Amino acid sequence: MTRIPTVGVFALQGDVREHLRMLGRLGVEAIGVRREAELDRCDGLVIPGGESTTMFKLARTFDLFEPIRQRSKDGLPVFGTCAGMIMLADRIEDGTPDQETLGGLDITVRRNAFGRQVDSFEGDLDFAGLDDPVHAIFIRAPWVEEAGPDVEVLARVEEGAAAGRIVAVRQGSLMATSFHPEVGGDDRVHRLFLDLID
Ligand code: GLN
Repeated sequence: MTRIPTVGVFALQGDVREHLRMLGRLGVEAIGVRREAELDRCDGLVIPGGESTTMFKLARTFDLFEPIRQRSKDGLPVFGTCAGMIMLADRIEDGTPDQETLGGLDITVRRNAFGRQVDSFEGDLDFAGLDDPVHAIFIRAPWVEEAGPDVEVLARVEEGAAAGRIVAVRQGSLMATSFHPEVGGDDRVHRLFLDLID
């Protein structure tokens, strides 16, 4: 791509600012997406962490749900982090009864999988495509309970009770992490996502 790509961050709910800041630092045009006209400008989209049950309702209310689903089906690269991973999953465990997802990733995610007592934890993970481990921050995070044959597993938890659980995946132009790569100064996971846009 010769022009600077425009990368949107779904901005109706969640930790939008951190993603915008990181994308801006990486030299793309980073915009918040609250309306379809903003989505139309995007060459890629990030769906941030937040609360997936609120996110899908707001996306419906603001007429963004179907447009995002359609664009991502048509090949728009989309990166979901935490709640964003839930939004991209074809199947959810422990969702609310009415909870809908955009889907696209052939995975089952378990919401709040790491347990209610341990709301958040941190750990170093090997990440496919990166030479050095990523320091991952998990906040009421989901994990991937099961992944279909076309899903590439990018990272798993390495230690503790959740060892072996899948926490980062890619399938075609969709990518998702259970953790929050936008927190802290490490932009390597975002760079991998931007590679999908070129
Ligand atoms: N538990 C949240 C949900 O179900 C996700 C948490 C997060 O994004 N930090 O949407």
